[in-house]
Amino acid sequence: MNKFKQKLIAFMIGRYGMDEMYFGLFGVWFVLTLINGFAKSTLLNMLSAAALTWALWRFLSRNHAKRRAENEKFLKLWRPLKNWLMFQRDRFRDRKTARYRKCKHCKAIIKLPNQKGKHTVRCPKCGERFDVRI
Ligand SMILES: [Zn+2]
Repeated sequence: MNKFKQKLIAFMIGRYGMDEMYFGLFGVWFVLTLINGFAKSTLLNMLSAAALTWALWRFLSRNHAKRRAENEKFLKLWRPLKNWLMFQRDRFRDRKTARYRKCKHCKAIIKLPNQKGKHTVRCPKCGERFDVRI
């Protein structure tokens, strides 16, 4: 057992390992596998296997520079989507106590208490005042 452990450690030396894209590919694999549980599609099955293979291949890769560059490209796509999803979650969580409005001057999103009527609001980011209706 100790010999196996040493061989495994020697095998893993210099490997790229996990990053955000690795978890993203696992997420794609998981979602496709879940959908394919109902759809029973060969294409979905192949796509989920490809996502899993790609994740494992990247994990074992020794070309760190290329994997890092791939991860940067992935993050450029993932970050805006993740921020939007987090915002939707917050908006749903606060639906009874707050309303979210966009500043008319700097487009910042402002959280306001849920009080019906017309209000004048000062944007905490740019300092401009504008009217909102809740
Ligand atoms: Zn503003």
